[in-house]
Amino acid sequence: MNLVVMKFGGTSVEDPAAIGRTAAIVAGRVANGKNPVVVVSAMAKVTDQLLRAAAAAAMGDRTGALAISSRLRSRHRDTACALVNDKAACAALTCMIDEKFDALDEVLRGLAAILELTPRISDLIVSYGERLSSHIVATALRERGVDSVHADAREFIITDSEFQKAGPLSDIIEKKASEKLLPHVRNGKVPVMGGFIASNEAGLTTTLGRGGSDLTGALVGGALDAETIEIWTDVDGIMTADPRVCPDALRVKVISFEEAAELAYFGAKVLHPATILPAVRKNIPVLVLNSRNASCEGTRIISLAPHCKSPFKSIAVKKKLSIIDIVASRMLMSHGYLSQMFAVFDKHKCAVDMVSTSEVSVSVTVDSNASLPAISADLGQLADVKYEGKKALVCLVGEDIRGQHGIAAQVFNAIRHINVRMISQGASEINMSFMIDEDDADEAVRSLHAAFFKEPDPEIFDVEARKQLAVSSSRVEK
Ligand code: ADP
Ligand code: ASP
Ligand code: MG
Repeated sequence: MNLVVMKFGGTSVEDPAAIGRTAAIVAGRVANGKNPVVVVSAMAKVTDQLLRAAAAAAMGDRTGALAISSRLRSRHRDTACALVNDKAACAALTCMIDEKFDALDEVLRGLAAILELTPRISDLIVSYGERLSSHIVATALRERGVDSVHADAREFIITDSEFQKAGPLSDIIEKKASEKLLPHVRNGKVPVMGGFIASNEAGLTTTLGRGGSDLTGALVGGALDAETIEIWTDVDGIMTADPRVCPDALRVKVISFEEAAELAYFGAKVLHPATILPAVRKNIPVLVLNSRNASCEGTRIISLAPHCKSPFKSIAVKKKLSIIDIVASRMLMSHGYLSQMFAVFDKHKCAVDMVSTSEVSVSVTVDSNASLPAISADLGQLADVKYEGKKALVCLVGEDIRGQHGIAAQVFNAIRHINVRMISQGASEINMSFMIDEDDADEAVRSLHAAFFKEPDPEIFDVEARKQLAVSSSRVEK
């Protein structure tokens, strides 16, 4: 078997045209003798809208919640009708869509009556996005001659009960995914499943956290010992910076697992931070590819990347962070202080991104979240505390900074016009990160990009695309 897991993100299934492209890509793999297992996200923006419907219902706005649901119902029905010509298949699909929306509306009505949105109900509501899109894609593939079969991810992606950010139980997944999916694959069928959604051991619907379909793809790839895991998205691969912020970002042709994990963790939205783990465990290459430009080679993420002449491969940014400054003279010459402090973060299940200490003070950065006042109150028992939001962490990642001199000077020279609040060089020695005001983040990325990707190494970066861009823009200028 040549098993390939192909995960398609929201934009790759956003409308009939996108689903058509996705179907053609899968059909192409089948024609090349591959055995794909397809994982799809909800159609673009559907998860956000489902969350909005849930929030409206929980505020008692029953009409508003049902109106969102009704618009989503029409969008899914219209998409299905545009894709499926076969009358019987179309009738079955629209009937399935109506059943799902009827059930969703029941939940929203109940929520509008009880006015309490628990993480468990939230997961049940958002799960409809992937449950719907996976059925539509499975049918669209059959229409295009691919022998596909729908698989309900919740039967084999099993997690703990941490609703909204559930942790996968790898051993159970490995066993159940093989049992459920391999018989289909051996029969030449292409299973299509929703990403992001899962269930706990009691069978209740959970989700893997926002952007979690990438993780589903990696978990399935790991469980089935796939030869590759493909992440299909709306950009040519992992780029040297978010192309929305830095339009002249270059495609990174090859990058190591370690670098990609670091980038994902520090905010490069193109990959969910946990995606790399299952792939590393089984040493399965991950490819990041563009469903709108399928002929582009994308980015190959492998265990050992070749040496790169530039120190960095890419720049990531994580926004919506806060800095907490904790000052206590009692800290001077004492011990055990940090452990008491971190116990507070632990109690509130709050992950700390960056830490910097002096003799009497500690600054930490955390995701801005609703528990900040409570964390601050608890820390206030130990020290003077103040926190400030709207911060961003900028992180430069590259294995080839190891042992190079003068890199930090170049980094801070490039952003000398920007006020830096905290600095850290990762323990892994492959990243350099610093904290600034969120409003300065885009400018910082562009300045760093200009400084570090002026003469990119053609072995690692797609310099051809930049040359073509330069030629076409000079033509426009003439
Ligand atoms: P999908 O819905 O396919 O999962 P996402 O929106 O989650 O797609 O991720 C793709 C987006 O990630 C891109 O459109 C791009 O704006 C953003 N992005 C951020 N950093 C990077 C980067 N370094 N390389 C590529 N894309 C990036
Ligand atoms: N649909 C989910 C989200 O928008 C999961 C995903 O797309 O990966 O977060
Ligand atoms: Mg994503």
